Amino acid sequence: MNWVDILLPRICRLCDAPVNADLDLCPPCRRSLPWNRQACRRCGLPLLAAADQCAQCVIKPPPFQSVIAPLLFAGPVPKLVYAIKFGKGYGEAKLLSRLLGDAVAASGEPLPDLLAPVPLATGRLWRRGHNQAILLAAPLARRFGIPLRRTGVRRSGRGKPQRGQSRTARTASVRGAFQARRPCSGVVAIVDDVMTTGATASELARTLLAAGADETVVWAAARAA
Ligand SMILES: [Zn+2]
Ligand SMILES: [Zn+2]
Repeated sequence: MNWVDILLPRICRLCDAPVNADLDLCPPCRRSLPWNRQACRRCGLPLLAAADQCAQCVIKPPPFQSVIAPLLFAGPVPKLVYAIKFGKGYGEAKLLSRLLGDAVAASGEPLPDLLAPVPLATGRLWRRGHNQAILLAAPLARRFGIPLRRTGVRRSGRGKPQRGQSRTARTASVRGAFQARRPCSGVVAIVDDVMTTGATASELARTLLAAGADETVVWAAARAA
């Protein structure tokens, strides 16, 4: 506990109730979150019945090996995500990073060698002032002792904002968007706030594999179905 925690009473990020745990979420709000409990191991999409992978991943596997995405992009989750993306939601970032880290720890998967937050195009980074993927990845790097590469991949400004686009349009708009600045090796975890169609994660995974990564995995706080 640091001095900020002593001076400022801790409150739940969702309902403002006081909390006395080291998590800024009260137990009822934690229970009511839309947990992505039954998901395809490979792409993170929620499954209707218990299975290892969804049919799509069996037919055409994505370039990444697995997805850890503990929450669905529903209920109060979009509010938390947009607070980080468009505001200065450092508390929300800390909370989602903590929940993502708990899911990583619970997965029992071997830890990756490097964390690669999904980069923003330079213009958007200038306007926004921060990259939400780095805000999520930095506490995970500290927690698990994994190097974080903030600037290993550049994103060109060609891609338009993807919100509201179809999967096909998203795939086309991110093609060739990433350029690796340095070679990498081992297992690289791509870190993002929300994984939607997987088009961005797939394109970044292909870029990292071409730059020397042995394999890639995806860590996202939330999965949109
Ligand atoms: Zn609460
Ligand atoms: Zn799948």
